Amino acid sequence: MTHGPDSDILIAGGGLSGLPLALACAQGGLSVTVVDALDPATATDAKFDGRVSAIALASCRMLEQLGVTQHLEGQMQPINDIMVTDGRVREGASPFFLHFDHREIGNEPLGNLIENRHIRIALQKAVAAEPLIRLLAPQSVTRLDYGAQAVATLGNGETVSARLCFAADGRNSPAREAAGIKTIGWDYGQTGIVSTVEHELPHEGVAQEYFLPGGPFAILPMVGNRSSLVWTEKTEDAKAILALDDAAFADEMRARFGDYLGACAPVGPRWSYPLTLQLARDYIRPRLALIGDAAHGIHPIAGQGLNLGLRDVAAAAEVVVDAARLGLDIGALDVLERYQRWRRFDNVALSLLMDGLNRLFSNDIGPVRLARDLGLGVVSRIGPARRFFMRHAGGVVGDLPRLLRGEAV
Ligand SMILES: Cc1cc2nc3c(=O)[nH]c(=O)nc-3n(C[C@H](O)[C@H](O)[C@H](O)COP(=O)(O)OP(=O)(O)OC[C@H]3O[C@@H](n4cnc5c(N)ncnc54)[C@H](O)[C@@H]3O)c2cc1C
Repeated sequence: MTHGPDSDILIAGGGLSGLPLALACAQGGLSVTVVDALDPATATDAKFDGRVSAIALASCRMLEQLGVTQHLEGQMQPINDIMVTDGRVREGASPFFLHFDHREIGNEPLGNLIENRHIRIALQKAVAAEPLIRLLAPQSVTRLDYGAQAVATLGNGETVSARLCFAADGRNSPAREAAGIKTIGWDYGQTGIVSTVEHELPHEGVAQEYFLPGGPFAILPMVGNRSSLVWTEKTEDAKAILALDDAAFADEMRARFGDYLGACAPVGPRWSYPLTLQLARDYIRPRLALIGDAAHGIHPIAGQGLNLGLRDVAAAAEVVVDAARLGLDIGALDVLERYQRWRRFDNVALSLLMDGLNRLFSNDIGPVRLARDLGLGVVSRIGPARRFFMRHAGGVVGDLPRLLRGEAV
């Protein structure tokens, strides 16, 4: 006797991409099992992930539609403006800058900055309230077999079957590796230092991207008089900075941060992330599809990595929910090809744009510095160009899946 699958969908990895995908598929009437290796309490611990994510306007609309935003009250810092400048440590900014003001394209902010920890807490609450989702955590997927169903073997020896498996298991994606899907990419030789800064004056929702020779120094406004730093340095320099005592670290930080927000000081732990580019050559196999960092790990220069993952979520959910409504096999390659066509080009194009920006700005070569400063000044003075970049930053352009338009899947 043959058994039907345990769920319609299995998601290996319940991180920032995996849990929204579970919610989106469940909203479309599909049953979902999510397996995540981390204990949910560890994943939301203040020491686990100090990052803050810039969530673009379209991604925010999707989180609202999925019932996540209601659990984020008081945790979302609107991004009103973005300032982009070039400079050198202890020398201040160049006179050329680029200013994006959200009022130029509408009343809504360009997005929101939310602490990853709070996004995870909100996702966990939304998932707990959804009867079609079963979350198994902490539990690992140790093996995947594909045939008439996708069958995951878990660390405790149990098996879970589904019509389709999504790999949302991050950059090193064991599911991608096991399926033999190759990646292309390179190491930037840079490390992102993440730290929170408290300051005297309010930031007014202005995000700063300050390009220094070692790499971009991003100041991301948080709720209250706090900002999150994503401070990129060549890996050797980052190691030395991370090894400094608190007073010397604060001094190095202030040499870059400046005094535009009055007195300031780093608070809490420091985190560090090695920066690489990693793009999967294919996103699909029969009964398997990659989403999020499993498909594309990119440079955080413009805070787009998770936004790409959330766009994958919206497209993947729409594809499988539409197929299920038509009575099609949701794990069949021809169904999944629609997802791959929808997302792969966009992801590669944006990843390479981020790569190019990082190369253009992470150096101190005189003629290059002059050209990019002039470029910043020119774009800043041309209204249509400014608005084009802002709409892209908000993720509201292109062939948007229903969820990113704020509609039900
Ligand atoms: C410094 C820095 C700043 C960033 N800032 C931004 C930003 O402002 N905006 C933005 O959009 N993006 C940003 N990003 C990118 C963003 O953080 C990532 O794109 C995002 O976290 C990827 O989420 P994910 O769920 O795809 O992968 P992950 O977060 O890596 O999650 C993978 C999950 O899979 C689980 N897992 C792995 N293996 C298994 C297994 N065998 N079995 C079960 N579970 C498994 C893990 O436990 C984990 O929970 C930033 C990245 C960095 C490094």
